Amino acid sequence: VWNSCLAFIKDNITPQAYKTWFEPIQAVKLTDCALSIQVPSKFFYEWLEEHYVKLLKVSLTRELGEKAKLVYVIKMENTYGNKLPFTEKIPSSQRSNMTSQEVDVPIKNKNPELKNPFIIPGIRNVKIESQLNPSYSFDNFLEGDSNRLARSAGMAVANKPGGTSFNPLLIFGGVGLGKTHLAHAIGVEIKDKYPEKTVLYISAEKFTQQYIESVKKNNRNDFIHFYQIIDVLIVDDIQLLSGKAGTQDVFFHIFNHLHQNGKQVILTSDKAPVDMQDIEQRLLSRFKWGLSAELQNPDFETRVSIIKNKLYRDGVEMPEDIVEFLANNIKTNIRELEGAIISLIAHSSFNKKDITLDLAKKIVDNYVKNTKREVSIDYIQKVVSDYFQMDVDTLQSKTRKRHIVQARQIAMFFAKKFTKASLASIGSQIGSRDHATVLHACKTVDNLAATDKQFKKFVEDLNKKLTI
Ligand code: ADP
Ligand code: MG
Repeated sequence: VWNSCLAFIKDNITPQAYKTWFEPIQAVKLTDCALSIQVPSKFFYEWLEEHYVKLLKVSLTRELGEKAKLVYVIKMENTYGNKLPFTEKIPSSQRSNMTSQEVDVPIKNKNPELKNPFIIPGIRNVKIESQLNPSYSFDNFLEGDSNRLARSAGMAVANKPGGTSFNPLLIFGGVGLGKTHLAHAIGVEIKDKYPEKTVLYISAEKFTQQYIESVKKNNRNDFIHFYQIIDVLIVDDIQLLSGKAGTQDVFFHIFNHLHQNGKQVILTSDKAPVDMQDIEQRLLSRFKWGLSAELQNPDFETRVSIIKNKLYRDGVEMPEDIVEFLANNIKTNIRELEGAIISLIAHSSFNKKDITLDLAKKIVDNYVKNTKREVSIDYIQKVVSDYFQMDVDTLQSKTRKRHIVQARQIAMFFAKKFTKASLASIGSQIGSRDHATVLHACKTVDNLAATDKQFKKFVEDLNKKLTI
């Protein structure tokens, strides 16, 4: 059965992916409609689940019918100690021979849920999926004064990854200004020019999750090794590492390793390095080794060309005055600009009406008003904790330290004031408290603001920040 599945799978993916992810699998058992396959590691299993689950399902259903079930058996490892095979230098001639067979350890546990260490055998010749979005390219990243430096630095890096002084390349700028797009574009271009290079795009958030998982499962070393074999590492929204000491530490090690080996690192952040809070100094100083390039608000001309480009790609025509109206009214966020175009097109096509200036006004109004009115509880917590220079986790923590309790109460107060959320929902979102706590917080803030000048100023400042 498994061999037929394999034949089907082989026809549907690249030979390289097949070799990497399917050859090492061994079928171990078939009972009724359940096929057990043995995979070399927990990581391997997760990768299969994430990337090939559909393919596996289809192939298995073809063989065993609708009731087909797949059971993973994970080879466990804990006999190697520090002598993990891939920590040793492997002559390149032998690498291609490394398969799971070399890690022939007894199956200690058949339950994939168990949190035991795993290893990634032969990882040196594992093909890592880049996670790049091919629709984010340099071609459709329009150039303007606002992004010229970042864009050309990105090009330079793409031409010679690891071979310029832009290492790391840190792209920073506000929300919706193209950081993620540019980061992908660099990766896509590198993949195009240097197909043999291992490129990996990952958000800092996902990186953090993976790291935490690896610690839970006692796999920290494997996590590090996985990242150390990458040629071009792109980490998006690096500011999200703020306040996360453990993740910063592991990233520091990975960064150093890659940098020392001439590998390229590309980072994005919504803040300039100087403004990043709760990021270790040694990490910040690494960021400054290379080039920090800012994406600024696009000027009018650039906004117009971005709109026209989008319309062109969508095959939609729009009168010039409307294009300019949009460009004039949505200035600081390209994502919003695109959103407005999309809803304009949608409105006109659903209602079978032409795109008129009137319609554009309505939509932009909605758009701008909505984005103004929509202050979320997350956003409030973020603003409040920034203001008091703590991170959101601290704000939500169980601590009774006075200044933290006050910050939390203020966040609750504003959540009540600016959102429609119920007291219970506010409570659960701000550190799992109950509605009575929120009610108490609101009263406390009212009282304190009436009696304590300093406190009153906090509330007023924040009120301003949240209503702009
Ligand atoms: P960020 O990561 O900075 O929040 P994104 O990269 O997600 O922003 O960009 C938001 C949207 O704006 C994306 O759809 C992106 O394609 C588009 N965009 C940003 N900059 C440009 C540009 N220079 N040319 C064309 N589209 C752009
Ligand atoms: Mg982004």
